Amino acid sequence: MIFYKSPAEIESLDRANALVVKILNALEAMVAPGVTTWDLDRVSEEMARKSGARPAFKGYRGFPAALCASVNEEVIHGIPSKKRALQEGDIVSLDFGVVLDGYYGDGARTVAVGRIPKESARLLTVTRESLERGLAQARAGNRLSDIGHAVQSHVEAAGFSVVREFVGHGIGSALHEDPQVPNYGTPGTGIVLKDGLVLAVEPMVNQGTPDVRVLADGWTAVTADGLPSAHFERCVAITAEGPRILGRAPGRS
Ligand code: MG
Repeated sequence: MIFYKSPAEIESLDRANALVVKILNALEAMVAPGVTTWDLDRVSEEMARKSGARPAFKGYRGFPAALCASVNEEVIHGIPSKKRALQEGDIVSLDFGVVLDGYYGDGARTVAVGRIPKESARLLTVTRESLERGLAQARAGNRLSDIGHAVQSHVEAAGFSVVREFVGHGIGSALHEDPQVPNYGTPGTGIVLKDGLVLAVEPMVNQGTPDVRVLADGWTAVTADGLPSAHFERCVAITAEGPRILGRAPGRS
């Protein structure tokens, strides 16, 4: 069942997502060699609680932390650890969500730790661009798969691959609502997008093959070939004025 949001609900979702962006900005500024993923987790939760929000992932289906921090070949759902110190040349995907006044925000970005290999830098750029291309398709009258097709075609043209096992989602007063938003697909298929639909679009892009597996901790998804993976996520509302990227101040990225 799909819930279409009122303008007031979209404003609430914008506030929740603005908080996610603020926290991700702070985490990105902290990322450096020697910082642990545990340090990042602690700051993310403190900042959320000081703003009157709750971290959305902590306890979700038993997830043990506030932040998902996935390093290099880890795709998503990496569990923060005091033992995981970031090293020069790593990439780290930071995925964070909040619930603020009953509405969810969800976002992710992959950050470079110091100087990174050229191919890693290209992976980050292409994944960020694929997200922007997907978001631009979030328009009334388009079909759901137009989003995934835009992501997939940009990624594959760059020689990278799109993860199939994990997808984006509707978001509102629940973290995960219908519909699922795959990062691949045949254009012109799936539901017709309508005003009031709010989606979390979140391409996960692998440098090598698309295959992933989940580690014995039951959470951490890694690439099957051990090559790096990147993840960028934003929430978007479909409105009469076009795609409204939530938590993004006008004219800002
Ligand atoms: Mg999400």
